[in-house]
Amino acid sequence: MEIKVLGCSGAEFPGHRPPSFLLDGRILFDTGSLTNQLEIKDQLRIENIFITHSHLDHILGIPFIADNLIFRKKKHRVNILSIPPVVRVIRKSLLDGSIWPDFTVIPNTHEGILSLIELKAGHPIMIDDYTITPYPVNHSVPATGYLVEDKSGKRFFYTGDMGPSDQTWKKMEGQPIHCLLIEVSFPNRMKDVALKTGHLTPRLVSNELSKINPYPKRVFIIHIKPQYSKTIQSELQKLNLTNLRLLKDGETIKI
Ligand SMILES: [Zn+2]
Ligand SMILES: [Zn+2]
Repeated sequence: MEIKVLGCSGAEFPGHRPPSFLLDGRILFDTGSLTNQLEIKDQLRIENIFITHSHLDHILGIPFIADNLIFRKKKHRVNILSIPPVVRVIRKSLLDGSIWPDFTVIPNTHEGILSLIELKAGHPIMIDDYTITPYPVNHSVPATGYLVEDKSGKRFFYTGDMGPSDQTWKKMEGQPIHCLLIEVSFPNRMKDVALKTGHLTPRLVSNELSKINPYPKRVFIIHIKPQYSKTIQSELQKLNLTNLRLLKDGETIKI
Protein backbone atom coordinates (compact mmCIF):
# COMPACT_ATOMS: atom_id res chain seq x y z
CA MET A 1 0.00 0.00 0.00
CA GLU A 2 1.11 3.51 -0.70
CA ILE A 3 -0.24 6.47 1.25
CA LYS A 4 0.25 9.93 -0.17
CA VAL A 5 0.06 12.55 2.57
CA LEU A 6 -1.85 15.45 1.01
CA GLY A 7 -1.86 17.09 4.42
CA CYS A 8 -1.34 15.97 8.02
CA SER A 9 -1.31 19.13 10.10
CA GLY A 10 -3.63 20.07 12.96
CA ALA A 11 -4.30 23.48 11.45
CA GLU A 12 -4.19 25.47 8.25
CA PHE A 13 -1.11 27.68 8.27
CA PRO A 14 1.33 28.74 5.54
CA GLY A 15 3.31 25.53 4.89
CA HIS A 16 0.91 23.37 6.91
CA ARG A 17 -2.14 21.63 5.52
CA PRO A 18 -5.13 19.91 7.21
CA PRO A 19 -5.43 16.09 7.09
CA SER A 20 -6.00 14.09 3.89
CA PHE A 21 -4.44 10.72 3.11
CA LEU A 22 -4.70 9.13 -0.32
CA LEU A 23 -4.39 5.34 -0.49
CA ASP A 24 -2.99 4.01 -3.78
CA GLY A 25 -4.46 6.99 -5.63
CA ARG A 26 -8.01 5.72 -5.23
CA ILE A 27 -9.33 5.87 -1.68
CA LEU A 28 -9.18 9.04 0.38
CA PHE A 29 -9.25 9.43 4.16
CA ASP A 30 -10.49 12.89 5.21
CA THR A 31 -10.54 15.90 2.94
CA GLY A 32 -8.65 18.71 4.68
CA SER A 33 -6.32 19.11 1.67
CA LEU A 34 -7.85 17.77 -1.48
CA THR A 35 -8.75 19.92 -4.46
CA ASN A 36 -5.86 22.33 -3.84
CA GLN A 37 -3.38 19.42 -3.85
CA LEU A 38 -4.53 17.01 -6.57
CA GLU A 39 -4.73 17.57 -10.30
CA ILE A 40 -8.22 17.12 -11.71
CA LYS A 41 -7.24 13.80 -13.36
CA ASP A 42 -6.19 12.52 -9.94
CA GLN A 43 -9.38 13.84 -8.33
CA LEU A 44 -11.29 11.80 -10.93
CA ARG A 45 -9.63 8.58 -9.76
CA ILE A 46 -11.16 8.88 -6.29
CA GLU A 47 -14.41 6.98 -5.82
CA ASN A 48 -14.54 6.54 -2.06
CA ILE A 49 -13.84 9.04 0.69
CA PHE A 50 -13.79 7.89 4.32
CA ILE A 51 -14.40 10.62 6.87
CA THR A 52 -13.25 10.32 10.50
CA HIS A 53 -15.48 13.06 11.96
CA SER A 54 -17.38 16.20 11.09
CA HIS A 55 -14.87 18.87 12.13
CA LEU A 56 -14.20 21.34 9.33
CA ASP A 57 -10.48 20.53 8.92
CA HIS A 58 -11.52 16.98 7.92
CA ILE A 59 -14.55 17.63 5.68
CA LEU A 60 -13.80 20.89 3.89
CA GLY A 61 -12.78 19.29 0.58
CA ILE A 62 -16.12 17.52 0.07
CA PRO A 63 -18.03 20.47 -1.45
CA PHE A 64 -15.08 21.44 -3.63
CA ILE A 65 -14.48 18.00 -5.15
CA ALA A 66 -18.21 17.70 -5.91
CA ASP A 67 -18.12 21.09 -7.62
CA ASN A 68 -15.13 20.02 -9.75
CA LEU A 69 -16.71 16.72 -10.81
CA ILE A 70 -20.05 18.14 -11.94
CA PHE A 71 -18.41 19.88 -14.88
CA ARG A 72 -16.84 16.69 -16.26
CA LYS A 73 -18.71 15.11 -19.14
CA LYS A 74 -17.90 11.59 -18.00
CA LYS A 75 -20.15 10.48 -15.17
CA HIS A 76 -18.22 10.24 -11.96
CA ARG A 77 -19.74 9.73 -8.55
CA VAL A 78 -18.08 9.72 -5.17
CA ASN A 79 -19.13 7.85 -2.04
CA ILE A 80 -18.70 9.65 1.27
CA LEU A 81 -18.51 7.03 3.99
CA SER A 82 -18.51 7.24 7.77
CA ILE A 83 -20.29 6.13 10.93
CA PRO A 84 -23.97 7.26 11.13
CA PRO A 85 -23.60 10.32 13.44
CA VAL A 86 -20.88 11.77 11.18
CA VAL A 87 -22.92 11.16 8.02
CA ARG A 88 -25.92 12.85 9.68
CA VAL A 89 -23.94 16.03 10.41
CA ILE A 90 -22.51 16.15 6.88
CA ARG A 91 -26.03 15.80 5.46
CA LYS A 92 -27.57 18.33 7.83
CA SER A 93 -24.85 20.97 8.09
CA LEU A 94 -22.63 20.74 4.98
CA LEU A 95 -24.93 19.45 2.24
CA ASP A 96 -28.32 20.90 3.16
CA GLY A 97 -28.16 23.44 0.36
CA SER A 98 -27.57 26.47 2.57
CA ILE A 99 -23.81 27.00 2.38
CA TRP A 100 -23.18 25.02 -0.83
CA PRO A 101 -25.37 23.23 -3.37
CA ASP A 102 -26.62 19.82 -2.22
CA PHE A 103 -24.54 17.56 -4.48
CA THR A 104 -26.37 14.43 -3.31
CA VAL A 105 -29.29 15.48 -5.57
CA ILE A 106 -27.31 17.12 -8.39
CA PRO A 107 -27.58 16.53 -11.35
CA ASN A 108 -30.70 14.64 -10.17
CA THR A 109 -32.00 12.72 -7.16
CA HIS A 110 -31.13 9.29 -8.64
CA GLU A 111 -27.62 10.12 -9.78
CA GLY A 112 -26.19 12.59 -7.29
CA ILE A 113 -22.49 13.37 -7.61
CA LEU A 114 -22.13 12.45 -3.94
CA SER A 115 -23.62 9.46 -2.13
CA LEU A 116 -23.58 9.41 1.66
CA ILE A 117 -23.01 5.92 3.04
CA GLU A 118 -23.35 4.91 6.69
CA LEU A 119 -20.88 2.37 8.07
CA LYS A 120 -21.40 0.17 11.10
CA ALA A 121 -18.74 0.58 13.76
CA GLY A 122 -16.51 -2.49 13.95
CA HIS A 123 -17.92 -3.95 10.72
CA PRO A 124 -15.53 -4.27 7.77
CA ILE A 125 -16.38 -3.07 4.29
CA MET A 126 -14.57 -4.38 1.19
CA ILE A 127 -13.47 -1.85 -1.39
CA ASP A 128 -11.31 -2.99 -4.29
CA ASP A 129 -8.66 -5.16 -2.60
CA TYR A 130 -8.93 -3.53 0.81
CA THR A 131 -10.85 -4.38 3.93
CA ILE A 132 -11.67 -1.20 5.81
CA THR A 133 -13.11 -1.22 9.33
CA PRO A 134 -14.24 1.82 11.32
CA TYR A 135 -13.22 1.72 14.99
CA PRO A 136 -14.71 4.66 16.91
CA VAL A 137 -12.35 6.83 18.95
CA ASN A 138 -12.86 9.30 21.77
CA HIS A 139 -13.10 12.90 20.52
CA SER A 140 -15.25 15.98 21.27
CA VAL A 141 -17.74 14.90 18.57
CA PRO A 142 -18.54 11.38 17.31
CA ALA A 143 -15.40 10.16 15.52
CA THR A 144 -13.86 7.02 14.14
CA GLY A 145 -10.46 5.76 13.09
CA TYR A 146 -10.04 3.36 10.17
CA LEU A 147 -8.18 0.07 10.07
CA VAL A 148 -7.19 -0.79 6.51
CA GLU A 149 -5.94 -4.19 5.46
CA ASP A 150 -4.75 -5.22 2.01
CA LYS A 151 -4.80 -8.66 0.37
CA SER A 152 -1.40 -9.58 1.76
CA GLY A 153 -2.52 -8.89 5.34
CA LYS A 154 -0.63 -5.58 5.71
CA ARG A 155 -2.51 -3.13 7.94
CA PHE A 156 -2.51 0.54 8.78
CA PHE A 157 -4.65 2.43 11.24
CA TYR A 158 -5.50 6.11 10.91
CA THR A 159 -6.84 7.55 14.16
CA GLY A 160 -8.21 10.86 12.90
CA ASP A 161 -8.51 13.18 15.92
CA MET A 162 -8.61 11.37 19.24
CA GLY A 163 -8.18 11.65 22.97
CA PRO A 164 -7.40 8.65 25.20
CA SER A 165 -9.42 5.73 23.78
CA ASP A 166 -9.19 2.46 25.76
CA GLN A 167 -12.03 0.69 23.94
CA THR A 168 -10.60 1.32 20.48
CA TRP A 169 -7.40 -0.62 21.15
CA LYS A 170 -9.23 -3.39 22.99
CA LYS A 171 -11.49 -3.96 20.01
CA MET A 172 -8.52 -4.10 17.63
CA GLU A 173 -6.46 -6.38 19.86
CA GLY A 174 -4.47 -9.13 18.14
CA GLN A 175 -4.47 -7.46 14.71
CA PRO A 176 -0.86 -6.37 14.13
CA ILE A 177 -0.60 -2.81 12.81
CA HIS A 178 2.25 -2.28 10.36
CA CYS A 179 1.78 1.46 10.27
CA LEU A 180 -0.04 3.71 12.73
CA LEU A 181 -0.98 7.30 11.96
CA ILE A 182 -1.84 8.79 15.34
CA GLU A 183 -2.47 12.33 16.41
CA VAL A 184 -0.65 14.57 18.89
CA SER A 185 -2.14 18.07 18.87
CA PHE A 186 -0.78 19.78 21.98
CA PRO A 187 2.40 19.88 24.11
CA ASN A 188 2.50 18.22 27.56
CA ARG A 189 1.76 21.43 29.45
CA MET A 190 -1.63 21.64 27.67
CA LYS A 191 -2.83 18.23 28.85
CA ASP A 192 -6.06 19.68 30.30
CA VAL A 193 -6.96 21.38 27.03
CA ALA A 194 -6.11 18.18 25.16
CA LEU A 195 -8.34 16.03 27.35
CA LYS A 196 -11.17 18.54 27.24
CA THR A 197 -11.09 18.76 23.44
CA GLY A 198 -10.40 15.06 22.76
CA HIS A 199 -6.77 15.26 21.66
CA LEU A 200 -3.38 13.87 22.71
CA THR A 201 -0.06 15.25 24.01
CA PRO A 202 3.31 13.42 23.75
CA ARG A 203 2.84 11.86 27.21
CA LEU A 204 -0.74 10.89 26.42
CA VAL A 205 0.28 9.32 23.09
CA SER A 206 2.96 7.31 24.87
CA ASN A 207 0.25 5.96 27.17
CA GLU A 208 -1.98 5.12 24.19
CA LEU A 209 0.87 3.22 22.52
CA SER A 210 1.36 1.13 25.67
CA LYS A 211 -2.24 -0.10 25.26
CA ILE A 212 -1.68 -1.41 21.73
CA ASN A 213 -1.00 -5.12 21.52
CA PRO A 214 1.11 -5.96 19.58
CA TYR A 215 3.03 -2.66 19.40
CA PRO A 216 2.78 -1.12 15.89
CA LYS A 217 5.76 -1.64 13.57
CA ARG A 218 5.93 2.05 12.61
CA VAL A 219 4.30 5.08 14.20
CA PHE A 220 3.77 8.43 12.46
CA ILE A 221 2.64 11.45 14.44
CA ILE A 222 0.07 13.68 12.74
CA HIS A 223 -2.26 16.63 13.47
CA ILE A 224 0.31 18.74 15.34
CA LYS A 225 -0.73 22.35 15.91
CA PRO A 226 2.07 24.15 13.99
CA GLN A 227 2.61 26.77 16.72
CA TYR A 228 3.66 23.98 19.13
CA SER A 229 5.52 21.80 16.67
CA LYS A 230 9.07 22.39 18.07
CA THR A 231 7.99 21.75 21.68
CA ILE A 232 6.04 18.64 20.71
CA GLN A 233 8.97 17.32 18.70
CA SER A 234 11.43 17.69 21.59
CA GLU A 235 8.94 16.24 24.08
CA LEU A 236 8.45 13.21 21.84
CA GLN A 237 12.21 12.76 21.46
CA LYS A 238 12.64 12.69 25.25
CA LEU A 239 10.09 9.89 25.51
CA ASN A 240 12.30 7.73 23.28
CA LEU A 241 9.41 5.82 21.73
CA THR A 242 10.22 2.96 19.37
CA ASN A 243 9.96 3.45 15.57
CA LEU A 244 8.16 6.77 15.91
CA ARG A 245 8.54 9.99 13.97
CA LEU A 246 6.64 13.07 12.84
CA LEU A 247 4.94 12.89 9.45
CA LYS A 248 5.19 15.76 6.97
CA ASP A 249 2.79 17.10 4.35
CA GLY A 250 3.63 15.75 0.89
CA GLU A 251 5.38 12.59 2.08
CA THR A 252 4.60 9.14 0.70
CA ILE A 253 4.48 6.12 3.02
CA LYS A 254 4.96 2.61 1.65
CA ILE A 255 3.52 -0.24 3.67
ZN1 LIG B 1 -11.55 17.20 15.44
ZN1 LIG C 1 -8.68 17.92 13.23
